[in-house]
Formats: sequence, structure tokens, C-alpha cells
Amino acid sequence: LRFSGDVVAEVSDLRVARRDGFAPDGLSLSLRPGEIVRLSQPSGGGKSTAIAALLGFVSPASGSIVVGASDLAAWRRIVAWVPQRPAFAATTVAEELRLAVSDRNVPPTIEEMRAVASSAAAEHLLDRKIIELSTGERQRVAIARALLRVKRGARVLLLDEPTAHLDSATASQVMRAVYDVANDGVAVLLATHRTVRVSDEPVQPIRVSTTEANAPRKPVRVRITRRELLGAMIGALAL
Ligand code: ATP
Ligand code: MG
Repeated sequence: LRFSGDVVAEVSDLRVARRDGFAPDGLSLSLRPGEIVRLSQPSGGGKSTAIAALLGFVSPASGSIVVGASDLAAWRRIVAWVPQRPAFAATTVAEELRLAVSDRNVPPTIEEMRAVASSAAAEHLLDRKIIELSTGERQRVAIARALLRVKRGARVLLLDEPTAHLDSATASQVMRAVYDVANDGVAVLLATHRTVRVSDEPVQPIRVSTTEANAPRKPVRVRITRRELLGAMIGALAL
């Protein structure tokens, strides 16, 4: 991991050594403000590993990752992450949200917690104990936690199969929130091979990039006009 103030994140020809070769095996992508890059490698293709490498948890065998921060601590401060299998430190959901931004000076207000929880369809869960929650409910809490970090200044959102355990209506509500975050200028990396529909409210044009395993090496960049947006979003997510 190298650090430069000029980029959000630039991954070039990333390979991570795994038992059966490399996963990912030659991944290049650029995270930019206001863009969603979709990682669509098949299961076992290295999506979660690529995210772990971006967070500095695993070291590449080759290739490079340059991120826009002065050091690892500064970089992690501006990243919000929804892990594929979220872990929690607190007992209740509300406490977990407070902990999620404990590196910020001011604790979240109840209104802020309600707002992010509502975007993640988790408003009714705020007073619940995390240990009692279903897998999908835990996923929604992890999304609310990441959205709160974005509200408190995170510039990068890394989503690892964020809708894997959600029904399609809830999944599309969550994707709506993700698109809103991107439209607000956050750089989003979305690892998923699931088809997700986004609700059909009008939204500002944003760009969606797609990366495939190995080919093409460079992400495909698609400029989307307002008119084409809904169809393109659904199309891109259905790739
Ligand atoms: P999925 O869609 O199933 O989540 P993925 O694309 O996220 O898959 P990874 O979890 O990144 O895939 O795993 C990529 C490969 O690396 C897999 O073959 C996996 O078995 C292997 N792997 C993952 N974590 C480790 C680890 N800690 N040690 C060794 N091998 C690992
Ligand atoms: Mg994974």
C-alpha cells in the first residue's frame, strides 16, 4: 500500500497469492469521487481479498495499490466498510453506531442514528441486542454503521456483498442509499454478483464501472445520462 494525496485509490494489476494461485489475479481499478466501481468476479475470485488489500490487511504478491491519504491510519479514517461477514463490538445496535464513529470528536445524535438506520432499513433495530439479530438484520446494521461513517466524513465506501442476506425490496432500498452516497461524491466499491434493482426515483447522473476477473484489465467506464440512468443502473448491476 502506497500513499498519495492525489488519488482516492488506484489499484494496478493486483495479485494476491492464495493456495490455488492468485485471487485476485491481475485486478486494476480506480476509485473516484461520485463513482461506483463494481467488482463482479465469481465466488472465490478475490473480491473480498481485494477489499482486504485496500484496507491493508493483506499484502499483494505483485501489483500496486495507491490510496489518497498520508498513512494507513489516515486512510482507514476516511474509509467506511461493510464486511461480507460483519463483526460487532457493542451489545446494542445504537451503541454499535456510536462506536463506529468514536474516532470522530462528536458522538452521533439520535437523529443522525435514526437517519442512517432508516436508509439501511434498520430504524426499528436501534434498541435491539446485536446477538439477537438475524443475519440480514446484522447486515443492515453493518450498512447503517458504514453510512454513519460516511455522514461523519468518510470519502470511500467499500461494500462486500452488502445485499447478500436481504430480500429484494430491502436490497433495492439499500442500493438506493448507496447511489445517494455516490451522488454526494463518495467513491464506492461494490463487490457483488447479485442482480439488484434500484428504485425508480429520479437521481443525478453518476458513473458505474465494472471490473471482471482478469479481462478486461482496465475497468469499463460508462457515462450515463439522466434519461438512460435507470435502465443503465439495472443493466450494469445485472451484468
Ligand atoms: P465470494 O464471492 O464467495 O465472497 P470472493 O471473490 O470474495 O468470493 P475471496 O474471499 O477473496 O473471494 O477468496 C479468494 C480466494 O482466496 C479463495 O479461493 C479463498 O479460498 C482464498 N482465501 C481467502 N481468504 C484466505 C485466507 N485468509 N487464507 C488463504 N486463502 C484465503
Ligand atoms: Mg467475498
